[in-house]
Amino acid sequence: MDVQHVYPEKRLSFPEDEARLTWLALLLDAYSIVDQGIEREIAKEAETRGRNVACSKGCANCCRIHAAVPVYPLEMAGMAWYCTEQVAGVTRQVLISQLEHFEQGDPCPFLVNDTCAVHALRPMACRQFNVFDIPCAEDEDPFYSRREDVLTPSEPFKNMAFRVMLPFYGIVDETDKDIAIKENHIHRQVRVLQQCSWKELAKKMRQFSAQQPSSNDIRFVGGPGD
Ligand code: SF4
Repeated sequence: MDVQHVYPEKRLSFPEDEARLTWLALLLDAYSIVDQGIEREIAKEAETRGRNVACSKGCANCCRIHAAVPVYPLEMAGMAWYCTEQVAGVTRQVLISQLEHFEQGDPCPFLVNDTCAVHALRPMACRQFNVFDIPCAEDEDPFYSRREDVLTPSEPFKNMAFRVMLPFYGIVDETDKDIAIKENHIHRQVRVLQQCSWKELAKKMRQFSAQQPSSNDIRFVGGPGD
């Protein structure tokens, strides 16, 4: 099954940027596959067990309490690009400050006013974290308190997404891709979002802002109200 093309209209698209940054197309393809996998799992739960996702806009409990969000190098490149070239306005200013002052133990530095500032380019782990039926209590981590209510991501879709990402890591041959998936090549490069230093990204954002003729020239597609 070619899942990449099941819902092509749902894939996010940044044509000019994808032409300039070839890795960005890989990441957007991969996220489209991951999202399709999640959509299918959610539909399956609704159909077979009558369950519905309890997560809703404005609930950012998981972004505040999770201390170890896994993130892969290609995803970090995507987040850095999005923050630098897409996020604007007040969200941009708050985000820069949070990235500069971020310390381990703080809520995710990309959380601005209870909204993910990189929502369009948020990592796979964030996309996959969906809770069924009952909204989380304050400070509850349902992964530990009620694991059965947390969506289990589709392994085949996850592997297909990883496969699409592999050229970013220099793996282009189809047989090599099979081996890389079997040996968890991408997963072995995982980092923890909250253990990374984001100061360099804040610096890059400031430099990019300074190069713009006016703040109105920065495209705004992310952040609160999006
Ligand atoms: S990247 Fe976005 S969705 Fe993920 S934990 Fe941070 S604020 Fe939440």
